[in-house]
Amino acid sequence: MNKIAVVGSGYVGLVAAACFAELGYSVTCVDNDLAKLECLRRGEIPIHEKFLPELVARHSGTRLQFSDSLAEAVRSSTVIFIAVGTPSKDNGEADLSYVESVAREIARSINGYKVIIEKSTVPVYTSEWIRRVMLLTTRTECEFDVVSNPEFLREGTAVTDFLYPDRIVVGVNSERAAAVLRDIYSPLTTGAYYMSAQRVPEPDRATIPPQLILTSAKSAELIKHASNAFLAMKISFINAVASICEEVGADIEQVARGIGSDSRIGPQFLRAGIGYGGSCFPKDVSAFRAVSRQCGYDFKLLEDVMQINEEQRRRFLQKIRTALWTLKGKKIGVLGLAFKGGTDDIRESPAIALVQGLVSEGVQITAYDPAAMKRARELFNGSIHFAENAYAVAAGADALLILTDWDEFASLDLKHLHELLEYPIILDGRNLYTPEEMERHGFMYISIGRKVLPLKQLADVPAQ
Ligand code: NAD
Repeated sequence: MNKIAVVGSGYVGLVAAACFAELGYSVTCVDNDLAKLECLRRGEIPIHEKFLPELVARHSGTRLQFSDSLAEAVRSSTVIFIAVGTPSKDNGEADLSYVESVAREIARSINGYKVIIEKSTVPVYTSEWIRRVMLLTTRTECEFDVVSNPEFLREGTAVTDFLYPDRIVVGVNSERAAAVLRDIYSPLTTGAYYMSAQRVPEPDRATIPPQLILTSAKSAELIKHASNAFLAMKISFINAVASICEEVGADIEQVARGIGSDSRIGPQFLRAGIGYGGSCFPKDVSAFRAVSRQCGYDFKLLEDVMQINEEQRRRFLQKIRTALWTLKGKKIGVLGLAFKGGTDDIRESPAIALVQGLVSEGVQITAYDPAAMKRARELFNGSIHFAENAYAVAAGADALLILTDWDEFASLDLKHLHELLEYPIILDGRNLYTPEEMERHGFMYISIGRKVLPLKQLADVPAQ
């Protein structure tokens, strides 16, 4: 059985390592962050991800090992997944220096045939660069193949996405590597894993068994960038339509339902809001834009996708001003800091950008997020207050903002919120409530692409 090394123990690497162990492989998860490794060895999970603590606990110390020695992991494995970060550079291109340094280290330790797999999201041609760097660095005659196997998991549902994928994309340029990858994923593609009594429960509408799509390495690299750009485009598209709804008095939820029920379009990623964020869409759209330009194609559509996303935050800030007039000295409660519900990830979070904008205008912020407060505390370093729940955030606030689509924010006790707030003003950046519901409870309610409920006189508010 193939032994696996996964380089990087972040959102993708740790999930991949734990899931491959779950599929029966012996896996070494390598990271150069010693503090993170210590934490993992103690059984602590540095990220908020459903089912991950259970999988790590189940396999840690047996099939799943953590190590800071890439050299040892390379020597003892035939398959090496690279899952390190590929952040944005200032010019929008992907910074591939982590990928390159890992490739060099692999080349120095190679001791037999290896399959080196890009799991990180990388621009087209990266597999060729890895191959070139390996050939220049290695001092042996060992054979290797470079494969692109992009990861499509979503934070918050990463484990189930990995084990129940819509598809597995494998970009290879040799039959030998294709055979290894087919074998690695066979517990999923044959359906064997789904028979296991201990399996992670399947999500709704899982494709069982998933298909394995075999492509060239360049096609696989493009599939990942194009998929993320397309999803970001859907979000920007619906946000642009929401802005038109606001101008003409239509309702974006009705419009999105009407559009999304066309089976050619589908309802997913048609939720209007304050825009996309996270560690993937912003950087991947700009990297795809940059690599397209380098290849000689001016992909202007992507520029618009990014601009609409930026504009969406500005519009929301303007809505806050419209509701509160001046901002300096106002007390605002914030529900949600993560870039979306279900994760503790605050990278490129629209909520964080908005809070930073408000703080710079002298607003006093009290925030609550079910999972992201630890990371946010480090980031804000005392410049905002934190509360232990949504109601504590609302107490005495001049307005309440909903910035992340956590489930628990969609079922709050609105009567209690009304009593707690200094002024009954809610700005909902995720459309978690209906204007009708808010009207019944007497709120001034401003959301995305729907009618604005003005502030009522107390006498106008119906008794509950
Ligand atoms: P991350 O920042 O959470 O994790 C990266 C890890 O790599 C860190 O723990 C870091 O310490 C480690 N690392 C960096 N250099 C290293 C080296 N030389 N040796 C060993 N370890 C090293 O990143 P992530 O969110 O897991 O993303 C990783 C890649 O996967 C990115 O390219 C990203 O675009 C892609 N991706 C991410 C997601 C997601 O939802 N986060 C989904 C699909 C694809």
